[in-house]
Amino acid sequence: MRKFVVAGNWKMNTNLPEGEQLASDIMSLLGQRNFDLDRYGVIIAPPYTHLYRLGQIIDNNKIRLGAQNMGWEEKGAFTGEISADMLLSVGVEYVIIGHSERRKYQKEDDQLLLKKINLALAKGLKPIFCVGEELNDREAGKHFDVVRSQIENVIFSLEVHNMENIIIAYEPVWAIGTGKVATPGQAQEMHAFIRQMIADKFGSQVGVNMTLLYGGSCKPSNAEGLFSQKDIDGGLIGGASLKAQDFVTLVDMLIEAK
Ligand code: PEP
Repeated sequence: MRKFVVAGNWKMNTNLPEGEQLASDIMSLLGQRNFDLDRYGVIIAPPYTHLYRLGQIIDNNKIRLGAQNMGWEEKGAFTGEISADMLLSVGVEYVIIGHSERRKYQKEDDQLLLKKINLALAKGLKPIFCVGEELNDREAGKHFDVVRSQIENVIFSLEVHNMENIIIAYEPVWAIGTGKVATPGQAQEMHAFIRQMIADKFGSQVGVNMTLLYGGSCKPSNAEGLFSQKDIDGGLIGGASLKAQDFVTLVDMLIEAK
């Protein structure tokens, strides 16, 4: 069954007390809501330093923990890296892999991302794999080519049985943190394209069940049009995930839309 998800990527924001406050505010706003956890997922991906503590604050029946990144090797002399086992040991279930900010600033390429995804899956973490084109790609009409190659280079190397443990987030780079959101039509056509690619490669049922998130300046004022699209299964949320009320409103909007 396809899962609908709102995931908050806090990026390099909040110190620990601020993060504790934000997580508690989200918890209390979610309040008594009882949603079907097989059908809906709420994930927060705070900085590494917060994971252990926030794991103690959140109710696992409502929110799941995600990490924003993960090291590419299992363990060893990789100063400053955080391993899959370390994440698992503090209760992390999801890991964002291939965010455009890491592709840009840390020069992470598809080969490295595939390594990370394989390791995450082997360890039992669920990757949220990000794809998306830059503005110049879209202006040149190459957005489908860019996303196709990102998916082919990484996702197509995986085994079909892994697909139920992966989420793909389409995040047009020009929409991330810019306030410029893709139109529901632009986002839907890319999501339909990705779903078709997955279906062609792994079978139609895998395509139908795949969770595809939109990311890029998604917030309560524009989410209705996005979440109502048939191939958009939720959002990877940056800026708006730092405001408890906005984040929980997005959860409500997704449940309402699906
Ligand atoms: C993101 O970082 O994944 C993101 C979508 O950020 P924002 O919502 O701020 O554009």
